[in-house]
Amino acid sequence: MLKISTPSRIESAENIAARSFGSVALTRANWIEIDLAALEHNVAVVRSMLEPGVRIHACVKSSAYGCGVVEVSQRFAAAGVDALCCGTFDEAVHIRAALPKMDLIMFGATLPDGIPAYLEHGLIPSVHNIELARAVSRFATSPTRVHIKVDGGWGRLGIPLPHAKDAILGIARLANIEIEAVYTHLPFTDLPGRDWAQQQTTAFCKLIDDLRASGLKVPITQARASNGVVFGITDECNAVSLGSILYGKSSAPRDLADFSNLRPACRSIRTKLIHVHPAFPGKTVGRTTGLHGRPTSPFVGITGVIPFGRRDGYAGARSGETAYVLIHGVRAPILAVNSELSVVDLSGVPDAGLGDDVIILGKDRDEEITLEDLSHWQGAGQTDVLVRMSGRLTRVFHQ
Ligand SMILES: *Cc1c(COP(=O)(O)O)cnc(C)c1O
Repeated sequence: MLKISTPSRIESAENIAARSFGSVALTRANWIEIDLAALEHNVAVVRSMLEPGVRIHACVKSSAYGCGVVEVSQRFAAAGVDALCCGTFDEAVHIRAALPKMDLIMFGATLPDGIPAYLEHGLIPSVHNIELARAVSRFATSPTRVHIKVDGGWGRLGIPLPHAKDAILGIARLANIEIEAVYTHLPFTDLPGRDWAQQQTTAFCKLIDDLRASGLKVPITQARASNGVVFGITDECNAVSLGSILYGKSSAPRDLADFSNLRPACRSIRTKLIHVHPAFPGKTVGRTTGLHGRPTSPFVGITGVIPFGRRDGYAGARSGETAYVLIHGVRAPILAVNSELSVVDLSGVPDAGLGDDVIILGKDRDEEITLEDLSHWQGAGQTDVLVRMSGRLTRVFHQ
């Protein structure tokens, strides 16, 4: 069953057209296919990797890693995750409307004066410094749950680990503060990173022991994200906060981690040829504004144009690499990426015609372009690649 949805914030004319005709917009035929059943499958796989009773906090930041925040949140909730971690207030408000009872944890973003908005919508603030804790205490009118973030050495948000014990005990004494969780985030992608993360996780668990020895109750503790689970980081925490693996992808190199039992949530990103440009002697492509701004060589072959450019989050390939799309199951090289359009070399598919499907990501007959391919061509992380491209796409959900 197919269900079409549109990006929640800015509803373009194309998306309105797509909705009213019940199909992908013909005025800008770019779309992403999301496999909601894959999310449920991945939650089950991850659950089987965890100790019984460990809570799963599913991350839906960045529009649910590009997959559509409300639909994905609903499916995670149906799959029984224990809480959702939100990136922005706007997204959280949309999720709240769809899931009135779900625990929604706000990852760090707000200034202290944003706290009343969180409280009004029943969102759980992540507190990464004392000022936020004081704001919750000041604005709350009854005991209010907070999740305290500790910086375990990544140097971003959080109370630095060496100062955390005293700071957290101080926060616990503030009026109307109920510390529900203490957590940290230790991202890594390789084996040296794993060693670092294990060491810092152990130090974090020592902090929890110290807090409990000082009489503080900490109901929820969490240190592992996707790679922590995949690489077997051990801790005594009773929660994990997961993004990538729930969406069926990895930031770890394939030779270090096996993801074959997970299913990608993003099944494909597709567009259509809006123009076929014939071969003729003296033809050039992007003569002054080729890929990366360099003049390109004369190109006499057949080329095609897709309505998918930099403004759609497409990046082609970094210098020295070639990016491809699939047309009729054939790999066709990208010759130029401009702000709204890209030019494709059709020499390998001379029978390609106006309106034919073009696969940016996904399978076509025996060929496939994976997120790993796009990530390699662009020299960017898989989540970044996907999130950048998802902003202007019509979303098509497979239940
Ligand atoms: C995004 C995020 C996660 C999840 O990370 P993955 O590597 O995608 O599993 C966990 N914790 C925090 C604080 C995050 O921002």
